[in-house]
Amino acid sequence: SDDKRLVVVSNRLPIAVGEEAGQWRIKPGSGGLVTALAPVIKARQGLWIGWPGCGEGPPLDELFDNFGREQGYRLAAVPLSEEEEERYYRGFSNSALWPLFHDLLGNCRFRGDDWQTYLEVNRRFADVVASRTGEDDLVWVQDYQLIMVGAQLRELGLRQKLAFFLHIPFPTHDLFRRLPWNREILTALLAYDLVGFQTLRDRRNFVNSAIALIPELQVERRQRAQTLIRYQGRIVRVGHFPISIDFAEFNDAARSQEVADAAWYLHENLEGRQVMLGVDRLDYTKGIPERFRAFERALEKYPDLHRNISLLQVVVPSRTQVPDYQDLKQTLDRLSGRINSRFGEPGWIPIHYVFRSLERTQLLAHYRTSEIALVTPLRDGMNLVAKEYCAASVENNGVLILSEFAGAADQLGKHALLVNPYDVEGTADAMHRAFTMPGEERRRRMGMLRTQVRRYDVHHWVRSFLGALSTGTQLP
Ligand code: UDP
Repeated sequence: SDDKRLVVVSNRLPIAVGEEAGQWRIKPGSGGLVTALAPVIKARQGLWIGWPGCGEGPPLDELFDNFGREQGYRLAAVPLSEEEEERYYRGFSNSALWPLFHDLLGNCRFRGDDWQTYLEVNRRFADVVASRTGEDDLVWVQDYQLIMVGAQLRELGLRQKLAFFLHIPFPTHDLFRRLPWNREILTALLAYDLVGFQTLRDRRNFVNSAIALIPELQVERRQRAQTLIRYQGRIVRVGHFPISIDFAEFNDAARSQEVADAAWYLHENLEGRQVMLGVDRLDYTKGIPERFRAFERALEKYPDLHRNISLLQVVVPSRTQVPDYQDLKQTLDRLSGRINSRFGEPGWIPIHYVFRSLERTQLLAHYRTSEIALVTPLRDGMNLVAKEYCAASVENNGVLILSEFAGAADQLGKHALLVNPYDVEGTADAMHRAFTMPGEERRRRMGMLRTQVRRYDVHHWVRSFLGALSTGTQLP
C-alpha cells in the first residue's frame, strides 16, 4: 500500500481558522500528529478530513484551496452543529468513552441520546470520506471520536483499505463490558484492516474483549508484531505502535539562544531553587490533585525540601464546558492555596500554579530549565509531555518522574523514576529521591531516555504503522 493515496480522518482538522484585520485566515496546526503526518500526506497527494473547529462564517472552500496550494495536501470539512458538539463530542466521546477507557468508571455518563448522535456524526464523517475517496486510497481514521467510521464505510459498500489508531488506552474486559454499546464498538473496530494501539497491554485488552464478547471471531495467529483475527471472512490485523514526537525538532529548538535566554530568566525568578515541573491539560486523568497531595506529603516528611524546591504546575485549559472539568479546576485552586499557606514562607512559594497555555518558546524553556519533571497521570494513552521533556533536556541532567500507568512507561520506565500516582507516600519519596539525585546518575538516566526517544520518534511511528499494512504476514 506504499503507493496508495493517504486519507487521514480525525475529529479536528490540523488547522486554526481565525480572523485577522477583517480577513479570514487559516494557520496550520503544530501538534505532533500533524508534524508526523503532513510530510507523508504531501508525498502521497493526500487529504485530511475533519471538523474545522469553526462555524459557518469563514469561506472554507476558498481558504482550503489556498491551504492546499501552500501546504501540498488538501483538506475537507465535516461541519458540526452546537447540539452535535454537545452530544457527540462533549457527550459520548468525552463523557463516556474517554473516562471509561481511562479506567475512571465514576466519571462516565452513558446516555442513549449521546450514543445516537455519535453514530450520526460518525456517519457524516463516513459520507464525506466516501464522496472523496476511491478504491485505491488508504483511509486512516484517528482515535476514539470516530470508531464507527470504518464499519459505516463498509455498509456504504466501500472496499478500500481502512486503518484505525487509538490514541487513548483500551481498558480491561471487566471495565469495557460496562459500556452499554460494547459489542457495537468492538465489531466496528473489526471492520478495519489494521487496528493499532499504543501499548501491548491495550492491544491485549482489546483482543481479550473481542474474544469474550464476539464468539464468531477466530484468533488466527498471535505474534509479537501482530495478532491476526478472522471475522466475517476477513482478516483484521491488530498491533501496537507507541506514538512519539519529532525528537530532532524539540532537541534543536531547545538549544536555540531564544530558549536559553527564556530558561535563564525563568530560573532567575525562582531564585536558584530546583524546579519540579508539571505540564498537563486540565483533565482528571492527569492526576494533578494527587500530585499536589504527594508534594504536600513530601514537604511534611522532608524538611530539606523547604525553600529549596518549587513545584511549577502549568495547566492548559481544556473541555471547560464539561462539569467534571470545572470541578477539577476548583479542586486545584483550593489545594494549591491550602498547601502554599501551610508551608509558604516570605520569599518561597511551594506551588506556582498557572492556568493557561504556553507559547512554544516558553514551553521549551520550562522543559529545559526544570531539574525534575512530574508526569504522573492516573492513566494515559502515551503522554507526549514525558517525551518532550527528555528531548528538550539538552543539559542532559533532568530527572523524569513517571507514572507506571502512562503508556510512555513501557518505553521510558527503566530510566525514569516510576511511581504509582495513587500512592501518595511513594510519590513523595520519589520527589525527594529526584531532588537529591547525584549529577552522575541524572546524566546516565537522561542519556538513556534521550537515546530511546531519539530512536523511536514519530517518524518511526508512522513508518511502522503504515509498514504493518503493507508487509503483513500472508495467510494460507
Ligand atoms: N502543550 C500545548 N500547550 C501548552 C503546553 C503543552 O499544546 O501550553 C502540548 C504539549 O507540548 C504536548 C501536548 O500538549 O504535545 C499534550 O500531549 P500529551 O500526550 O502529554 O497529553 P494529552 O493532552 O494529549 O492528553
